[in-house]
Amino acid sequence: MTDLHRLSIRELSEGLAGAKFSSRELTEHYLKRIAKLDTQVKSYVTVTAEQALAQADAADAAIKAGTATALTGVPIAHKDIFCTQGIKTTAGSKMLDNFISPYDATVVAKGKAAGLVTLGKVNMDEFAMGSTSENSFYGATANPWNLGHVPGGSSGGSAAAVAADLAPFATGTDTGGSIRQPASFCGLTGLKPSYGRVSRFGMIAYASSLDQGGPMARSAEDCAYLMNVMAGHDAKDSTSVEKDVDDYVANLNGTAIQGLRIGIPKQYFNVAGLDADVKARVEESLKKLEEMGATLVEIDLNMTEAYVPTYYLIAPAEASSNLSRYDGVRYGYRAESPVDLMDLYKRSRSEGFGAEVQRRILIGTYALSAGYYDAYYVKAQKVRRLIQQDFLKAFESVDVIAAPAAPTTAYKIGANLSPVEMYLGDIYTIAVNLAGLPAINAPVGFDKDNLPVGLQLIGNYWSESQLLSVVHQYQQATDWHTKRAAIAEENA
Ligand code: GLN
Repeated sequence: MTDLHRLSIRELSEGLAGAKFSSRELTEHYLKRIAKLDTQVKSYVTVTAEQALAQADAADAAIKAGTATALTGVPIAHKDIFCTQGIKTTAGSKMLDNFISPYDATVVAKGKAAGLVTLGKVNMDEFAMGSTSENSFYGATANPWNLGHVPGGSSGGSAAAVAADLAPFATGTDTGGSIRQPASFCGLTGLKPSYGRVSRFGMIAYASSLDQGGPMARSAEDCAYLMNVMAGHDAKDSTSVEKDVDDYVANLNGTAIQGLRIGIPKQYFNVAGLDADVKARVEESLKKLEEMGATLVEIDLNMTEAYVPTYYLIAPAEASSNLSRYDGVRYGYRAESPVDLMDLYKRSRSEGFGAEVQRRILIGTYALSAGYYDAYYVKAQKVRRLIQQDFLKAFESVDVIAAPAAPTTAYKIGANLSPVEMYLGDIYTIAVNLAGLPAINAPVGFDKDNLPVGLQLIGNYWSESQLLSVVHQYQQATDWHTKRAAIAEENA
């Protein structure tokens, strides 16, 4: 078969179970595509061909023996922020260019237990700080829809790999939009679960009160399969919640669109930088949901203006604390011939971290310093609570909240936006993390340059099933999620 990369996760699962093709054939097919096409897309930092083929053979044996799960033998790409035993985990940083984790992240371990085949580790903004994947030590990844544009970030490698059909699905992480915005830029479906739904053990920390892992794939159905593997309590992560998980696949039709109340925040559609095409596509998708039976309800989210300043205090503050562990002593990059311990610390950190990471460490350290802690950090925490309350109030009258995932489509590579311009691009995603809510991106069309546009739906706590179900039914009624970038059409 030459078009294995066109199959959905359900089709792959059924094809493997029915012996239409083997996991080895499927894995070889993807490895060939990566070898041929990733020189252009540059989504992988590390390809683990040998290990993947060994896992594929083990999967084929399990399928024959009747011990397979629904996903045994299906390939996956992991964001290079998830620790993988024996395989380099870089977080897109020179600091960890030589880091080989002695253990697997829980998400990776669960994937292995489910029989997934790891194709490799994919690119990202350094320590997940960024919105373009250009902040990676390994260079920029290209957007499969237009190789001169960015795939978004920080999970840009995950998004580009899936959009170019170089992996059937991928893991991502989202601290302030890093699953939803690249999914939007690359025409994919991506789910940021509620804070605590997915274990963060072995997921390299950026901002610990905001970080959350989740699935990135072509459709809500594909995401549901991966959520079934990723979700759940983990004794190794005290922030993971002890709460039963849903069967996300079984619940794909579980939410009625008829009567679903979708909140449309007035403030979101009046944002100065909102691109006219993005606005139009999002409004068309909402009209479609209305035709399917949903009710659109105008709502207020009065704290919208506070999102960017609040997030850009709290996230750097936590980052400055988390990243203090990279000291050049225990592991990671170490500067050559230090004259003393201070020189070792200073040079290891200034040589090992890139510019954006250093900027955030400086901002965060400043915001946490004795004289400014109350004025900045404590104030931001109070505003954070108000943002959360704003959402909870909205959920008294609506079931989900609609928004663009990003104010624009994918930027050009090298567009060189100022830090503040770049941060303003996160306006629609960061409040969800500040509040700890789940949210999903679904592709809903294209702008005038044929770049994908995404609709974001934000749900109340633990409503992942509902979000996947709404998007699944929208995808049954439309075909935006089936569109492929030209490079994905190519065969290897
Ligand atoms: N773009 C945002 C930032 O740079 C979000 C990144 C993320 O979710 N990891 O902080």
